[in-house]
Amino acid sequence: MAVNADMEKCTGCGACVDECPSEALTVENDKVVVIEENCIDCGVCIEVCPVEALSLE
Ligand code: SF4
Ligand code: SF4
Repeated sequence: MAVNADMEKCTGCGACVDECPSEALTVENDKVVVIEENCIDCGVCIEVCPVEALSLE
């Protein structure tokens, strides 16, 4: 599994990219991109996103 990103909400601020311990997030064209094979489902990014664009189901 990997974190899910809601592109409607994401502002491309990059806060999650800086906090991810597994280099599973990047920002391209002002939207977050999840590199699914790197995600370890730790949930750190969910906590730091200011617009609640990230979730683990
Ligand atoms: S859940 Fe953890 S490993 Fe996955 S993208 Fe978020 S911060 Fe990175
Ligand atoms: S912290 Fe949230 S709004 Fe900012 S780039 Fe990440 S997913 Fe998008």
